[in-house]
Amino acid sequence: MRDIVEDIKTRIDIIDLIAEHVELKRAGQNYKGLCPFHSEKTPSFMVNPSKQIFHCFGCHKGGDIFSFVMMVENMTFQEALSYLAQKAGIKLESKGHGSEIRSGIKENLFAIYKEALIFFRNNLKVSKHATSYLNKRGVDNETVEKFSLGYSKNEHDALFNHLKTKGFSFEYIKTSGLISSGDHGIYDFFRDRLIFPIFDLQGRPIAFGGRILSESKNAPKYINSPDSIIFKKGETSYGLNIAKNSIPQKGYSIIVEGYLDVISCHQYGLTNTIAPLGTALTSGQLKKLKRFSNKVLLIFDGDSAGISATKRSIELCYKEGIIVKILLLPQGEDPDTFLRKYGQEGFRKCMSHAISPVEFLLKVYDRSKLDAVRYMLQVIASCPDPLQRDETIRELSDRSKINELTLREELRHASRVKRQASRVDAFQKSGISSPENMEEKMLLSIALSFPDKVMLIANNIEPQIIEDPVIRGIFEKIKKWPSLEKLLTVCDKEEQKLITMLSINTEIDETDVEGIIENCLKTIAMKKLERQIRLAGEAGDVKLLNSLLFEKKSLLQKSKLFLNGGNLAKN
Ligand SMILES: [Zn+2]
Repeated sequence: MRDIVEDIKTRIDIIDLIAEHVELKRAGQNYKGLCPFHSEKTPSFMVNPSKQIFHCFGCHKGGDIFSFVMMVENMTFQEALSYLAQKAGIKLESKGHGSEIRSGIKENLFAIYKEALIFFRNNLKVSKHATSYLNKRGVDNETVEKFSLGYSKNEHDALFNHLKTKGFSFEYIKTSGLISSGDHGIYDFFRDRLIFPIFDLQGRPIAFGGRILSESKNAPKYINSPDSIIFKKGETSYGLNIAKNSIPQKGYSIIVEGYLDVISCHQYGLTNTIAPLGTALTSGQLKKLKRFSNKVLLIFDGDSAGISATKRSIELCYKEGIIVKILLLPQGEDPDTFLRKYGQEGFRKCMSHAISPVEFLLKVYDRSKLDAVRYMLQVIASCPDPLQRDETIRELSDRSKINELTLREELRHASRVKRQASRVDAFQKSGISSPENMEEKMLLSIALSFPDKVMLIANNIEPQIIEDPVIRGIFEKIKKWPSLEKLLTVCDKEEQKLITMLSINTEIDETDVEGIIENCLKTIAMKKLERQIRLAGEAGDVKLLNSLLFEKKSLLQKSKLFLNGGNLAKN
């Protein structure tokens, strides 16, 4: 197993892999980019090509290509292994243990959805009922193909039977959410519905949305597959698997409300359009979207539900540092009806009248101007991008005719309240910059960054004298596994995190590495002695105290002790 891991690591470069998700720029020995795991405006996500590791100084996530894939694709190690093996062109002989069961479920669910997709698409081809609906809505054949639209027959258990004949077990079919069971036995979840398949970014079907076709029925107009281990509604957008290619080209994405809006927009050339699933946009969806562009145009309906959805979406966009504009369509229109009436040209004309969040709130927010301004200040306070904050506040002052300084004062107040709430949390997370055990961290950092110094350090330090248990654990292993790659494979999660963080350290003065090592060793030894002296004093052990004090004195006198072959082992 370890050999395969090594093999994959030699074939896949971490820079290439991460560049598929993050825009990386060279910064000295490292590459820098915006972290895919937390929201930020200035890059604190570093990738080191020579060590093949990454670390984020903002959220402290880090590791190698495997940890990256596991985190970014939400995969288990086993899944990441087979994903990367495939990428590297390596055949996996047999599976390891551990996550086998779960990946078994995942594989089965992917296969079930793939099979169901084929089934629904074939149904559509022979259903007059469904095709005439699509014709009525002006959806052409090319678009039907592009979005893999389908139809679920108005039958009790057509899909269930089909999946059974394909050899899927009842348990897996049930887990997929494609069937329900109740008083009438087992029945298909989607019946007599137009099917909108929902894909992940790799283009695999992971869920379906279904629109009812017989208006008479007393059933919801739209339903979605339930969340499963392959589908998280809050992190998936409709159409992103297609739009992801044109969003970076066009420089922004368009967010509309419904499936048919997305389909119409694409058919009329607005190929950067997506929709949240269900009504509300989520921050999980925006985080994924942001990988492709941080500019968004919101087009929601002009009714009261659409307006509150827009308001909520503005809030989320600011929180994610996304630059947002809003397009208000004429009363009673949605993108689909509007496009069919006025075509692409009419739509583009309308798009040129898109307004800013400030305009939207002052114009549409149905409360007083002051309420709108206060609300907007809250929104601005949550934005991580100082430039975006600054620009918005200036516009807010312009349009509300409230003095900019007054607004800035109010903003400071709003930010302070927000900060106080999050400070405790942030403080607990940032154990990194704490000066505690600085020398131990520095020493480890050097051992990790300067391969030619590893043995020098390892030979001059006994792990027992190290106070920090995580650093001690690493030093216990480093002598046996001095190479970073090997070391990472024998360390636990906590240790790996610290290793990736410390090995991307830009603050070491390279001209005097040995001097720093010496100082660190000395300080660590001194601190250890002082701890022992304090304990001996508390215990009243005079004999021990005296010998420790003597040791301390001689330590202070010797300036060049350790690197000349001395060893601190006996402390
Ligand atoms: Zn981060």
